[in-house]
Amino acid sequence: MNTPVLTDLDGVGPALQERLERLGINSPADLLFHLPLRYQDRTRVVALGALRPGQYALVEGTIALTEEVRRGRRMLLSRIGDGSGFLTLRFFHFRASQVRMLQAGRRLRCYGEVRAGVTGLEMVHPEYRVDPDSEGNGTEDRLTPVYPATEGLSQYRLRQLCQQALDWLPRLALDEYLLAEVLRQQAMPALEAALVEAHRPAPDTDVAALEAGTHPAVRRLALDELVAHQLSLRRVRQRARSYRAPVLAIEDGLEAQLRQQLGFELTSAQARVLAELQADMAASRPMMRLVQGDVGSGKTAVAALAAVRAVASGFQVALMAPTELLAEQHQRNFSRWFGPLGLEITRLSGRQGAREREAVLGRIASGAAHLVIGTHALFEQQVSFARLGLVIVDEQHRFGVHQRLALREKGASEGGLPHQLIMTATPIPRTLAMAACADLDVSVIDELPPGRKPVTTVVLPDSRRADVVQRVRGACAGGAQAYWVCTLVEESDVLQCEAAEQTAAALAEALPELRVALVHGRLSAADKSAAMSAFERGEVDLLVATTVIEVGVDVPNASLMIIDNAERLGLAQLHQLRGRVGRGEAGGVCVLMYHAPLSEVARARLAAMRETTDGFEIARRDLALRGPGELLGTRQTGEQRLRIADLLRDQDLLPLAQQEADRLLMQAPELADRIISRWLGQDPDRYVQA
Ligand code: ADP
Ligand code: MG
Repeated sequence: MNTPVLTDLDGVGPALQERLERLGINSPADLLFHLPLRYQDRTRVVALGALRPGQYALVEGTIALTEEVRRGRRMLLSRIGDGSGFLTLRFFHFRASQVRMLQAGRRLRCYGEVRAGVTGLEMVHPEYRVDPDSEGNGTEDRLTPVYPATEGLSQYRLRQLCQQALDWLPRLALDEYLLAEVLRQQAMPALEAALVEAHRPAPDTDVAALEAGTHPAVRRLALDELVAHQLSLRRVRQRARSYRAPVLAIEDGLEAQLRQQLGFELTSAQARVLAELQADMAASRPMMRLVQGDVGSGKTAVAALAAVRAVASGFQVALMAPTELLAEQHQRNFSRWFGPLGLEITRLSGRQGAREREAVLGRIASGAAHLVIGTHALFEQQVSFARLGLVIVDEQHRFGVHQRLALREKGASEGGLPHQLIMTATPIPRTLAMAACADLDVSVIDELPPGRKPVTTVVLPDSRRADVVQRVRGACAGGAQAYWVCTLVEESDVLQCEAAEQTAAALAEALPELRVALVHGRLSAADKSAAMSAFERGEVDLLVATTVIEVGVDVPNASLMIIDNAERLGLAQLHQLRGRVGRGEAGGVCVLMYHAPLSEVARARLAAMRETTDGFEIARRDLALRGPGELLGTRQTGEQRLRIADLLRDQDLLPLAQQEADRLLMQAPELADRIISRWLGQDPDRYVQA
């Protein structure tokens, strides 16, 4: 017997199929994973005298009066009574036939929301039936589901289809793979029972728990989806692992030289993570490792030491930065470190002229360039490497699996893949890393370099702006440098840059003794880099900038940061920005200046910033405030669209999902395939694609 398809369902032809597909329903099983938004209780008739405003209820009564009235607009009012009380039904849209149907003396059964009207309780446009069968039959024995619907597909139709899919449960033969013992431990129903409970709950079910997704039946389904999600990511990982990668294990003295150049000893966390990277790179399967570390934990040095091993082994390294500004800074740093070792650093930028670009591409293709730095353009364009051995992605904000895949594909050649190292911009909580990065190994640099003094964070209303300006004056008079960050004031880039220009002009006027420079997104590359390098060399005291400086910028002498309109930024962004100060001997101060009044969430964010400088703690709070989609930056890309599970709500299920996924892959790979396909259907990369 074949598994039934959508068009096997009663009355489903091409048109309806298309509408169902719009809801992401591509099979009868998908109908079952299309859970109700809420439920209606049509299991009992409520006496009219017992109705309360706000309640949805099934009621029955005899029509006392039906009349068309004009109260500003034309409407139809019908009044029913049942001995215990009365209820008015109000229709703004009606036909003549309706007026005839609703004549006094007939019995009526209605379902709708009860509201307090001027003349007592009423229902506006209730669903109704005239002359219901008298026995009180027609009430239902289960709660009625209300589904997310779409145009041209009524609730009624969806209910019928879902009911049919439920009736087909035996034919659909959905595997239950959870052991009875696990179900018992989790106090969850088995899969089929969970589906029945979620679609047709018994009248005494805790509906609030169902709707909130905390009911054991929904948790069972969420777990199923999380297992499928884990399985699909593990498959991605297996696929990538099946490629060959170059063995990068030669240590020819370059590494020791680089360690000398760095001018500091690695922290023990850096050393541990470097050893993990080196072990991965020494294998002939591609490394796919995420290095998590708080802002300032020294990820760059670790990456540089990994890179030097690739070069020593005769391979090229590509370093991808999120912005041109950061790419340029990396170019400066790496040139300082690698230059003395006789290695060639090349930067590929979208702004290079044709001739320069040609030359750069030539150096990359011939293998002369050992380290190639650029933004994502490195992989979007026709760049061909002679011997690419390692790809480093710095300051990755988004953890979209599809982006990682695309990158891997770009680096692939003749069945081989380069090793891949991804470095986070800000830490992500462990549970979330587990869910979103299941295709990666994860290392954590959980220690800051010695001698860092924690940054003091001050939160002030912008009515104190004059004091803040004095603070900048004082700090710079003492030889420190400062950032003044202008946040997004307007949606438009142009206006944002104008605002930064005005701020810079005002500050230059208020602080005539200071050397003020400006960096924003609309400056030419040359102007931007001139301003940045002047700041790095200490020739500028105060750098006014938009959030373009958010990631990676490293100027240890800068110890004061003012963030204007800090309430507009998210926690991760604030933490990133604040990470720019407190890198030197002096310790740092970050002033978060806000414009009152603060929203609840903004208040919580600023409080979190004041209370902790631990990036992992901030990430946990961020997760609670914003949810995983925002945190991972995947909400906009539409990636990871889970249907039932919610990474925040169902965090506690993640370890179990991971454990079950591992067990299935080991013990029953065919079953794993079936579970992936029951959630992902024909589209096994659903969680992976944009
Ligand atoms: P992030 O992890 O945020 O990318 P960076 O790699 O930019 O941090 O490092 C921050 C600063 O700390 C840099 O100035 C870097 O040179 C310095 N640094 C890194 N590792 C050490 C260390 N082990 N000891 C002292 N300073 C270090
Ligand atoms: Mg960095």
